[in-house]
Amino acid sequence: MQCSKCGNEAVTFIRYNGTYLCRQHFIEFVEKRVRKEIRKQSLPKGVIAVALSGGKDSIVACYMLWKIAKKDRSREIHAITVDEGIAGYRDATIKIAKKFCEEHEIPHHIISFKEEFGFTLDEVSVKRGELAECTYCGVWRRHCLNKVAKEINAKAIAMGHNLDDVAQTILMNFVRGDMERMARMAPHKKIQPGLIPRILPLRTIPEKETTLYAYLKGFEVSEDECPYAIRAMRGIYRDFIMQLEEKHPGSRHSILKSFLEIEDCLHEKYEAAKLNPCIKCGQPSSEPVCMACQLREKIKRGHE
Ligand code: SF4
Ligand SMILES: [Zn+2]
Ligand SMILES: [Zn+2]
Repeated sequence: MQCSKCGNEAVTFIRYNGTYLCRQHFIEFVEKRVRKEIRKQSLPKGVIAVALSGGKDSIVACYMLWKIAKKDRSREIHAITVDEGIAGYRDATIKIAKKFCEEHEIPHHIISFKEEFGFTLDEVSVKRGELAECTYCGVWRRHCLNKVAKEINAKAIAMGHNLDDVAQTILMNFVRGDMERMARMAPHKKIQPGLIPRILPLRTIPEKETTLYAYLKGFEVSEDECPYAIRAMRGIYRDFIMQLEEKHPGSRHSILKSFLEIEDCLHEKYEAAKLNPCIKCGQPSSEPVCMACQLREKIKRGHE
């Protein structure tokens, strides 16, 4: 097939807008929307931290921001990798993240659950009780990212979430009736004391496109999936959205669009919670002891 723009050989067909694109035009198509999204989410000046797991999305997000910062001396990109301690999975992606940062001369900070909380996620898995690994992982990862971002004086944390991830989260919050959580979704417009706002440069790019972009750019990526993902509720939403998109191309974009339509109303209804430093760890929390510390205590008790 030929590229709808220039007639060269196409590398992909974009179903939701009916165009065939060659390598060059596909790369431009992705980069243009990421730049637009970054402008829309207003990228602050100063240090920008990227949550770099080493998975393809985080590598693409990091590369895009690095490219922007290269031409703009008012911004500096740092990468933060959280080592959850998942044997046979995380080690490979950390290696990829390290190599990527070395090649692009990006300062790289690694923080582990073991150092920070005393347990690897594999150890948590044995003692976790009724809560799934992802619950611990999500809460502890947010804690770690915010901690390091604060230490390096970052003005924002960029996450690698793509359109599929964001559509899943919106739908999940909707189905659960959790509008308050919906109101707290990144990108954050309000600055909360002690909490570094998160931005999502790839939120309008479907997963298939971030994968193809990473491939065409020749980035080394890992195909492995986390062994605990199987217990994640998200899987149901992923399958559902994939089926929906198959039958009605453009559904993911519509889900995001609907959220953006009601976003301001949600912010008005659910004011940001008042945050104070956690009495145990000092990270911002709406309760005296933050959720990360509560979960650490729970695991500690399970070990005794
Ligand atoms: S799938 Fe769950 S346990 Fe695995 S890295 Fe993601 S959040 Fe953590
Ligand atoms: Zn072309
Ligand atoms: Zn705490």
